[in-house]
Amino acid sequence: MKAFENVRGMRDFLPQELAKRRFIESKVRECFQIYGYEEVETPIIEYFELLSMRAGEEIRHRMYAFKDLGGRKVALRPEMTASFARVVATKLRSEAKPLRLGYIANCFRYDNPQMGRYREFWQAGFELFGSSRLEADAEIIIVNNDLMKRLGFSGFFIKIGDVRILRGLLNSEGVSEDDQNTIMGLVDKRKVKSVLTFLEQKKVSDGCLKTVKKLLELRGTDCRKILEDGKRILSQNERSLEALEDLEAIINLARVGGVDTTFLVDVGFARGLEYYTGMIYEVFIPELGIALGGGGRYDKLVELFGGEPTPAVGCAPGIDRIVLAMEKKGLFSGQLSTINRVLIIPVGDDLSAKALEIAANLRRNGISAQNEVVGRNIGSALSYADKKGYAYAIIVGPRELEKGCIILRNMKVKEQKEVHLVNLVNEMSLMTRISLKSI
Ligand code: AMP
Repeated sequence: MKAFENVRGMRDFLPQELAKRRFIESKVRECFQIYGYEEVETPIIEYFELLSMRAGEEIRHRMYAFKDLGGRKVALRPEMTASFARVVATKLRSEAKPLRLGYIANCFRYDNPQMGRYREFWQAGFELFGSSRLEADAEIIIVNNDLMKRLGFSGFFIKIGDVRILRGLLNSEGVSEDDQNTIMGLVDKRKVKSVLTFLEQKKVSDGCLKTVKKLLELRGTDCRKILEDGKRILSQNERSLEALEDLEAIINLARVGGVDTTFLVDVGFARGLEYYTGMIYEVFIPELGIALGGGGRYDKLVELFGGEPTPAVGCAPGIDRIVLAMEKKGLFSGQLSTINRVLIIPVGDDLSAKALEIAANLRRNGISAQNEVVGRNIGSALSYADKKGYAYAIIVGPRELEKGCIILRNMKVKEQKEVHLVNLVNEMSLMTRISLKSI
């Protein structure tokens, strides 16, 4: 017989691992509610053309793309923004704006599997459509920051930049959009030498080369100083200057909105996706060198997909990496709630029916009850209950039942007592309230 393994890069989520993801999802949904983001689901499969239009070279090449049986060129979604822009361009075209939409979704990229990089991964998302104002940019940062706080993080930081800073400069040198995209891809990977070589080949001025070099080094947590330095370097470039001014305003608005997190302004910052048109950011913890999530402004995507001109800004916290970060920081401890379950063990086959009846009654009253269904004796049934972390066992024995009673055993303290069936639900309701259990 053949033993099958997972397909490379694909993971099973066993109960304890899934519980971590579910915990994060519950906090994401808390934020959806508090900030008014309505959850939407879109299909995993989309047209390749839609997904690839502004995805950027890197992601475009890593898509699970194939022809379906009808000959359509399709792909598994590598991210969610394209699908949301499609929905806003079509089905939600005439919906009142601004529109706040949220999602929790699995995405697929044929990345090289490594720590924090999987071929199937989960993103949460907050997308705000219909506002070009800086308050909207700030709102996305505020939500993302709040989510991190609700998950228990402190000491994380937000790296922030704006694609217009570099693009503004490259535009003024007449660098084509395609070439700009190539450059932004290299900048995203911090390949400074390759950026400069590429620009030399494109025959940009020496002044531009020097400026790009300076910009790629310009980053720091003293936001005011970095932004002032940026403005000095780019004093001749209106579009870049505007981006720097906007960044300053966004940071200030986020601060007013309760973000007390460190900002690292990175003037030479780019993200892989090509649809960004303004502010971009990523969230990090110092202990992990990979972004826990990121986002930015993408004002042209809805229009590109045939919709009304709709400015938009959004973010995608990466759930898998947040799990890693929470594990690293010990943030799951005491957070994952488990239900106190009870195992009902009949003493002998004759009492199986009675055990089923008791279980049904407990469940009707909201208590998690399972029957012993493999005909084990009490000793091995109790040992099973122990291994599986049952909080209680109910032993249904003939002698007690004659008196209308069962034995209720507390598995943790290993104590037991007789309880009358009439009082069982009451007794159990008190004991089986959700309890916090660290893992
Ligand atoms: P992006 O859509 O590239 O902006 O990514 C947003 C977030 O999704 C990243 O910051 C990561 O947290 C997460 N992410 C992206 N690619 C992967 C991957 N291959 N595996 C796990 N998480 C990922």
